[in-house]
Amino acid sequence: MGFKMTKTCKLCSQTKDIKFFYKSSTCRLGVRNVCKKCQNLQRVVYNKIYRQTHREWSRAYHRHWHQLHKEMHLKWARRWKQNNPKKVLAYQRKWTKRNPGKVRSHRTLTLARRLKRVPSWVIKNPTILSQIERIYQNRPKGYHVDHIIPLCGKLVSGLHVPWNLQYLPAHENRKKYNSFNPEDTNVHIWATK
Ligand SMILES: [Zn+2]
Repeated sequence: MGFKMTKTCKLCSQTKDIKFFYKSSTCRLGVRNVCKKCQNLQRVVYNKIYRQTHREWSRAYHRHWHQLHKEMHLKWARRWKQNNPKKVLAYQRKWTKRNPGKVRSHRTLTLARRLKRVPSWVIKNPTILSQIERIYQNRPKGYHVDHIIPLCGKLVSGLHVPWNLQYLPAHENRKKYNSFNPEDTNVHIWATK
């Protein structure tokens, strides 16, 4: 039997072989009125509009999904990172460029931890940690984040905590490097050990 079944798409008005239409038991000829190409296009547009109009819902849904599949997601991410080292590196570079405050904050925290100048109750307190990070992120241009009492001073060593941080003009901070004169300032000195 050499005859072909054709149908005209309701959207693009092209007459196509029946195999270019998705099957549907409820439609005439057992296929849909719209061809596969048009239907896929429709779906893309529909999804886009749907996501835009249901943004909040969509976010909540994805958060929920992510939480349910955390382990699986982590495994995927790990595998993807292993297979795409170049992309990972490029992303890291971009992120570093875009988040200088976070990078600086993280570096100083690492250094301060190595010097044992971060009390354990700070490390366990996300509020204080984010306070420190915000200080680094909001640093005005031309200023450095300075430890009022240096982390490893000659006379006394300060802690890496928000109330021991201040903004200093870059040139002044270089001059001050690790020196601390109690007569200079009215800051409270607390026991370091
Ligand atoms: Zn069509």
